[in-house]
Amino acid sequence: DTLSLMKRLNKNTKKIKSKDLIKRARKFAEPFCVTNGKKFHLKDVDPGDTLHLQSEDKPRAKEILSIGVQLLAELQDKLYAQDHWSLLIILQAMDAAGKDGAIKHIMSGVNPQGCQVHSFKQPSQEDLDHDFLWRCMKNLPNRGEIGIFNRSYYEETLVVRVHQEYLAAQRIPPKLVTRNIWKERFQDIRNFERYLTRNGVVIRKFFLHVSKEEQERRFLERIDTPEKNWKFSASDIKERAYWDDYMRAYEDTIRNTATKEAPWYVVPADNKWFTRLAIAAAIIAALDSLDLAYPKVNDKKLAELAAAKEALLGKGKKR
Ligand code: ATP
Ligand code: MG
Repeated sequence: DTLSLMKRLNKNTKKIKSKDLIKRARKFAEPFCVTNGKKFHLKDVDPGDTLHLQSEDKPRAKEILSIGVQLLAELQDKLYAQDHWSLLIILQAMDAAGKDGAIKHIMSGVNPQGCQVHSFKQPSQEDLDHDFLWRCMKNLPNRGEIGIFNRSYYEETLVVRVHQEYLAAQRIPPKLVTRNIWKERFQDIRNFERYLTRNGVVIRKFFLHVSKEEQERRFLERIDTPEKNWKFSASDIKERAYWDDYMRAYEDTIRNTATKEAPWYVVPADNKWFTRLAIAAAIIAALDSLDLAYPKVNDKKLAELAAAKEALLGKGKKR
C-alpha cells in the first residue's frame, strides 16, 4: 500500500544520503591522514588551512557537522550491537587547540553508554610506579565501544621529551635510560598499537595543529572573558615558551608512529569549525571501514520472538 511504499522510499533515500555522506567524509579527511611517517613534514600542514571552504561557509559547515554527528550516532549504535570492534580515538595538541570543544561537539549525538572519555594529566604516584603504557591500558575501550583519550601515552614522547626531568620521576633503572630511549618508545608504541589492532581495537590519532599566533589569541580571550577565566592556567604560558621544542617532538613522534593501521590525522586547528568537521569525517570514515551490522537473528531467536509476540497479544486480548 501507499504507506508502506512511502516508508520504503524514505528508508532508501536515507540510505543513499548516508552512503553519499560517508563517501564525502572519507574524501574530506583524506588530505590530513598520515599513514607513512617517513614522508611527513609538519611544515607542510598550514594550521589555518580550510581546504576549499571559506569563513562564509561556516554556517553550512556547522549544519553538515550536525548531520555528521547523527550519522556517527547510527554507526555507533551498530558498533555497540555487533560488539566485535572498538574504536580508540587519541587527541593530542598544544593547549587551547580545541580538544575539549571537539570532543563536546563531535560526540554530542552518541550514546553515553557506549563511549568513554579519559583525560591523562600529570601522572600520579601510582602511575609512576608502573611502565608508561599502564595507565592507558587500564582505560582502553571495551569491545563495541568508543574510547577517547584526551592526551595519551604520546605525552611520553612529547612533554617528557621536552622536559626530560620528568623521566627521572619515572624511576626507570638508570641502566635502561640511554640515548635510544625515544627510539625505543616509538618502537614500543608501534608494537602496542599493532597488538591492539590485531585484537580489534581500531586506532585513530589526531594532532590538532594550532598556530602559535592563534594560541595567543585564544589565551587572551580566556583572560578577557570571565566565563573563560577558569580555563586559563599560568603553566600554559610557560609551556608556550617551549613551542619549537614541542613542534620538533610532534614531528618526530608522527614520523615514527604513523602507520597504515594506526594513522595520524594532522588537522589544521586555527578554525574550530573546520577542525571539528575534519575529525568527525575521519571518525565516520573509520567506522564505515568496519563491517558493522546488527547481529543476525537465527531461527531459534525468530521463533522466540514470534512466541513472545503471541503471548503479549494473547494477554492483551484477555484484558
Ligand atoms: P585543559 O587545560 O583543557 O584542562 P589539559 O589536558 O591541558 O586540559 P592540564 O591539567 O592543563 O590538562 O594539563 C595536563 C598536563 O599534564 C599537560 O601539560 C600534559 O603535558 C601533562 N602530562 C600528561 N601526561 C604526562 C606525562 N606522562 N608526564 C608528564 N606530564 C604529563
Ligand atoms: Mg591545560
